Amino acid sequence: MKTERGGWRPMRRDELRDELVHDTYKSGKKLAEPSRCPDCGAVYHRGRWTWSPAPSGAAEATCPACHRIKDEFPAGRVTLKGPFLAAHRDEIVQLVRNREAHERAEHPLQRIIAIESDPDGALITTTDIHLARNIGDALHSAYKGDLEYHYNKEENLLRVEWRR
Ligand SMILES: [Zn+2]
Repeated sequence: MKTERGGWRPMRRDELRDELVHDTYKSGKKLAEPSRCPDCGAVYHRGRWTWSPAPSGAAEATCPACHRIKDEFPAGRVTLKGPFLAAHRDEIVQLVRNREAHERAEHPLQRIIAIESDPDGALITTTDIHLARNIGDALHSAYKGDLEYHYNKEENLLRVEWRR
């Protein structure tokens, strides 16, 4: 498997499953438990972020997803291209949105930052690499097409390219 410039490496789907690590973006210091993110309301408790109500006395700490949104530094980038996309854009974007809603309900750190459309395609940025991978999987299982993953392990970034 060849390595690309800048630490990027093409990956197969089955390889990715074992490779992806949890997002530790800006979690240099250990968070107080429980903590509540003042921006989105997610609560850090027993080592994970949930949508549970904040217990009284919770500290405040910005969650990694809100940090990435503020920094405009997505963990995942999903590029969509091709004539099938152009002809079914609304339906495909809806599928992507549904997938995000499903993941986000369970995993507060998995969010879409933006969906930018242009005449050539669309770019979806995400706060978490797992969501980017799952969007790629969802597109492929719904519509087939060509799907590629490129993972940057050092920086924990994932690029997904889907074309049909
Ligand atoms: Zn947050």
